[in-house]
Order: sequence, then structure tokens, then C-alpha cells
Amino acid sequence: MKIYPIYKGLEEKDWLEKIKDLEEKLASCTLCPRNCKVNRLIGEKGYCRTLQKPFISSAFAHFGEEKELVGFNGSGTIFFSNCNLGCVFCQNYDISSLGEGRYIEYEDLAEIMIGLQKRGCHNINLVTPTHQVYGIIKAIYIANKKGLKLPIVYNCGGYESLETIKILDGIIDIYMPDFKYGDNDTGIKYSDCQNYFDVAGIAIKEMFRQVGELVIDERGIMKRGLLVRHLVLPNNLANSFKILEFLAKEVSTEILLNVMDQYYPAYKSKNYPELSRRINDKEYNEVITKANDLGFIHLA
Ligand code: SF4
Repeated sequence: MKIYPIYKGLEEKDWLEKIKDLEEKLASCTLCPRNCKVNRLIGEKGYCRTLQKPFISSAFAHFGEEKELVGFNGSGTIFFSNCNLGCVFCQNYDISSLGEGRYIEYEDLAEIMIGLQKRGCHNINLVTPTHQVYGIIKAIYIANKKGLKLPIVYNCGGYESLETIKILDGIIDIYMPDFKYGDNDTGIKYSDCQNYFDVAGIAIKEMFRQVGELVIDERGIMKRGLLVRHLVLPNNLANSFKILEFLAKEVSTEILLNVMDQYYPAYKSKNYPELSRRINDKEYNEVITKANDLGFIHLA
């Protein structure tokens, strides 16, 4: 019988082992593929400029996410500050790049999760968790003991370490990665990262291996599965077809796919003429048609 949320099936020793594994990674940080190897336990900072404890911007019931997450009472969303990517068009750059946020204790983060549950939210939606996953898992461990029973949504940029994602097996019910670019060079140019397509592809395959096919309850609310977000860029800069083909061939069409049309030139994109406009209907519809042709039937 399947257990929902999945972390209710985790034994104490498994929690402690996962926390220990993450702490070891933090001591010479390899939590994400940047492998900065700084010791965040003694105050060193790597590319993400973040210390050991949770560093958050805000937490609230979010009604702007996919309807399968929002349901009736909202998605219990926690925005984590800073990021392991450097996207020039980031729409949350005040949080991801300008350092907006405050450090809190693990127990405080657990209380925030419990508070979102009390408000009736349908899930705990962790926005940009990758570089803070150690503090997050510690907080979920505490919150679980206090009665947390909502599924965890891992809402990440897709630039994930396979080893770190493997540690999350048994805790995360819903993976929600971006899949930004269909080639590595674009990742270097617009997100300041090496091997984006290769790295994200491997991580997303592992995410699907863990959670399997979509589970949506009778109210239309997602309980488990993989939700991939892809933001269409102007001039086909994201190489969208390649992403869809990879997902269909190497992962599955039994995922929830959100092809997003809301690109606008934010943050540093004014420095890139090719990114200086929104997309048009033709550009968007071509990607949707491709998704339909490949057999994706669950479109958010
Ligand atoms: S989580 Fe931060 S410090 Fe660690 S490897 Fe990634 S960018 Fe570097």
C-alpha cells in the first residue's frame, strides 16, 4: 500500500542518516553541481552566498501556482533566498540575487510549515530549495514529529546534484523542476552554469524514478509525481523541442507538464538584445503542438 505523504514511512534512523549525509556535503559543499567545496558549517560561502541555517524571504498560501497545487486553499509556499543559478532574466532577482531575506532557526522553519498546514494549504512548496536542502530536511524532520502531513513539493531550477536528489528519496512526493534549456551552451550564457542540459536531464530522470507516474486525487489536487516547468524563451533560445523530446523519450509522458508563456525581459536581460521581448502566440503554440504530438496529455 502506498503511503501519503511518503515521508510518513521513513524510520528515525533513515531521517538521521539523510541529515548526516547532507551535513557531510555541507562541510565541503557539494550540495549542487557547482561543487564549491567550501565549509558552510564554519561560515564559508560558495556561489550561492548562503550559510548553514535556513535563509528565507517569505511564506504564504500561494494561489498563483498550478491549479493541481493550489486546490481550494492554496499551495503552502516558502521562498528561499539566494540561488545556485545566475539566470540573467530571473523574475525573482530581488530574492535570488540581491540577498533579500532573513536567517531563521530550523525549529522556526518547521513552525512555518505547521502554520501553513493549519491554514489548510494542500502542500509545502519549497521554492529554490537546492542550496538550502540541509536546513530544509532538518526542518521537515522536526515538523514531521509535530504532525506535518502535507506532501513536500521540491520546486527547483533543475541544476541539481544526482547524489543530493538520491538522499531525498523517501521524503519528496512532488518534484517540480524547471527544465530551462535544451543544450549546455545556453546554460552557460544565460544561467552562468556548466552542463545544464546534461545535469538537469540526469536529475529529472532520478526524480521520476523516485515518485513515478502522476497521482491526482478526486478533487484534482496533486499528491505525487513529477511536474516539469519549461519557460519558452523568445527566438527559440531555450531549444524547447529538444527538452520535450528528451522528456518523452528518456523520462515519461506520464508527468504534469507546464509550458509557460510568461517570459518578460527582467533583471539583466536588457543586456541581451535577443531576450528583450516577450514571446508571441506563434512561438508558444508551436511548443504546445509539439508537446501534444509527443503524447503529453497532462498539461498544466
Ligand atoms: S549549494 Fe552553494 S556552496 Fe554548495 S556547491 Fe552549490 S552553489 Fe556551491
